[in-house]
Amino acid sequence: MSAPLTIIGSGMAGLGLLRKLRALDPARPVTLITGDSGDDYSKPLLTTGFAKRLPPRRLAARSALEVADDLGAVVRTHTRVEAIDPVGRTLTLGTETLPWSELVLATGAAPVRPFRVPDAVADRVFSINDLDDYRAFHAALETLGRPARVVIIGIGLVGCEFANDLAAGGHAVELVAPESTPLPRLVPEPLGRALGETFREAGMVLHTGRQLLDLRADGASVGLELDDGTSLSADLVLVATGLRPRTTLADSAGIAVSEAGIHTDRYLATSAPGIHALGDAACVEGVNAMYVQPLLASAKALARTLTGTPTAVTYGPWPVLVKTPLLPVVALPPVHPPARWRLEGEGSDLTALAEAADGRLIGFALTGHCVRRKVELARAAPPLLG
Ligand code: FAD
Repeated sequence: MSAPLTIIGSGMAGLGLLRKLRALDPARPVTLITGDSGDDYSKPLLTTGFAKRLPPRRLAARSALEVADDLGAVVRTHTRVEAIDPVGRTLTLGTETLPWSELVLATGAAPVRPFRVPDAVADRVFSINDLDDYRAFHAALETLGRPARVVIIGIGLVGCEFANDLAAGGHAVELVAPESTPLPRLVPEPLGRALGETFREAGMVLHTGRQLLDLRADGASVGLELDDGTSLSADLVLVATGLRPRTTLADSAGIAVSEAGIHTDRYLATSAPGIHALGDAACVEGVNAMYVQPLLASAKALARTLTGTPTAVTYGPWPVLVKTPLLPVVALPPVHPPARWRLEGEGSDLTALAEAADGRLIGFALTGHCVRRKVELARAAPPLLG
């Protein structure tokens, strides 16, 4: 039997590709290998489950077994690929060697932890980046059996979304970050300040401009010490200090990578023949957007390429919708620093237009009622990857 097309990763990129492939070619042997449970779930829903008190099973659309049945693939769960041989076209999994005909890397991105977590509190310090992580955090909340005191480290998209969701679920939330306002990489300061004010009015405590110095066990709680001498006490700590593309596997195989991800061209081809990459792991001609619309466009294009119609991927001017219902935020961050941000609006209903030196719109950010301008502004903005 011929070696299968093999996909590493069962996130939205890996499964999205498998779905598109099957629509074009129902027969080709495909193996999907994943380090996690292989459940088919939507990662963006992870930051909406605590307000609605959703148990983890409600977030998974299908189990790995159902995926294998529906999409006619061999699915191997809780299996880590340890090495790729790009010349012999094999993978190493423990003592096993698996041949592949073509290989797709959909290995996603992993949470970054910029500080050491002592063993004594390791069971109370979490990052939530997949459904297995959500299961673990949900179980810790259930064990507590009462509203939890949660300290979130990080005020980017993931930290802010979890803050809003946990607060809406009745938990007491404090946020800690070195930046002065929330969403520092997505929106300019006045809009971040508006979100911070909204969070405070909802009862959250924000420790902005602060570094975490120490984490330690304090009875059943976790004690946190900040660089201004403030001491905090939490039942659980959620670390949301960013994600880094998983590139080690590709790098060890001699495939071109950088901090931005596994390098590919517009056809999602890596530097190694027969190996493609997409999703959070991939940096496509210098762009790693790390959200859903670009990876779905990549899955569609790559499925066509792998079935004999070479198709270059393009990304439109797709804004990010931040799931903070307390104050809706939409952002299309400019690829290059703008010459200026032009601000309009008042209170928490703000529009910020990123302009190039010649006045061209190159990005925008919107809060509150102004989010309804997203379609009009996206039409005027340049594509992410045209
Ligand atoms: P992942 O989902 O990370 O999947 C990677 C897969 O690779 C996993 O199955 C993993 O087990 C596997 N893997 C890795 N290494 C190995 C190995 N060596 N061997 C075997 N398997 C391996 N985007 C939006 O557009 N809108 C949103 O509202 C939004 N909300 C988000 C909320 C949260 C909390 C987070 C974390 C992200 C959010 N995003 C959102 C971003 C979006 O979810 C991601 O861009 C997308 O899910 C990434 O999918 P992926 O398949 O590339 O990676």
